[in-house]
Amino acid sequence: MNSIYNFSAGPAILPKDVLYKAQKELKNWNNLGCSVMEISHRTEEFHQVITEAEKDLRDLLNIPDTYKILFCQGGARGQFSAIPMNLLRNFLTADYINSGYWSNSAFLESKKYCNSKNILIRKTKNNKTYLLKPSQWNVSDISAYIHYCPNETIDGLSLYEEPSFKDKIVVGDFSSFILSRSIDINKYGLIYAGAQKNIGPSGITIIIIRQDLIGYASRLCPSIFDYNIMNKYNSMFNTPPTFAWYLSGLVFKWLKKQGGIKKIEQLNKKKSDLLYHVIDNSNFYINNINKKNRSQMNIVFHLFDSELNQIFLKESKKFGLYALKGHFIVGGMRASIYNAMPFEGVKQLAKFMLFFEKKYG
Ligand SMILES: *Cc1c(COP(=O)(O)O)cnc(C)c1O
Repeated sequence: MNSIYNFSAGPAILPKDVLYKAQKELKNWNNLGCSVMEISHRTEEFHQVITEAEKDLRDLLNIPDTYKILFCQGGARGQFSAIPMNLLRNFLTADYINSGYWSNSAFLESKKYCNSKNILIRKTKNNKTYLLKPSQWNVSDISAYIHYCPNETIDGLSLYEEPSFKDKIVVGDFSSFILSRSIDINKYGLIYAGAQKNIGPSGITIIIIRQDLIGYASRLCPSIFDYNIMNKYNSMFNTPPTFAWYLSGLVFKWLKKQGGIKKIEQLNKKKSDLLYHVIDNSNFYINNINKKNRSQMNIVFHLFDSELNQIFLKESKKFGLYALKGHFIVGGMRASIYNAMPFEGVKQLAKFMLFFEKKYG
């Protein structure tokens, strides 16, 4: 089979080396004569998998001991509910920074639990979309926490400035941002991420939470969403998605082998710079996002002539470039270039875009 490059937004591309390793050991994992999927999560062998996964993630993101890591289910959307149920405590409100589709969805869900405040930070100036910096956010004094999303996967918007609020708990939806660049964990009370963007297969959700925030779940919070219970049971209160956990662990090891987050961060910049360069040097492709707020993970662009959309998708696919169709609420195209996308794949896309422009522009 010819090799292709997969630009899907999620579930998304995984490192080839990781897939080869999983394939190689699929039927006989760890010399047990069966696959990792077929053993109990309580075995010594599986315990090793999760211990290493946690340690590698701690190393990669420099996570201090004062933070716990939980491996949960229910996806990022599950956390849209779990967060208010665990962190509201006796507060009646929380601040929701609204920068696009996902942060707005988190806000809407939170309204089931409290009278949350919707803080719009997405603005337009000279036809360019930009986001207000954390220092410009109009947060309230009476909120339990501030929720935000540093990378809006659908809108292609990013906020690179980390929020620094001394006396506020900052909660971040890092689903498509985690492990793409280095962050200062100490600035956050909790960050969470569904795995299927930049970590592993779907089915597992990673939560990094400051220890002192555990133990305040509301009485009606389902046990599987209660951080205290999940923590006490070492993320095994119910049967965990063992294969997704194992594969995520392999991705962490792969990331370390690539040189860690600093190296990945440089490469991610190089990859996104190349595509934005093609877009900015043409009158054929359009991206109206302020340079400071452009996502390095999800590059969103429109064709000058939307009649060409279908032809672009058809021809790019023939070129071996898959899943470039934008989300239906935004339209146009979206190239998701997570950590696992090699520079070569981005080069191929850039080459195709130039070729296509020449042909139809
Ligand atoms: C994909 C995504 C979600 C939804 O994740 P699920 O795991 O499907 O619930 C939420 N937030 C962001 C930023 C995402 O990219």
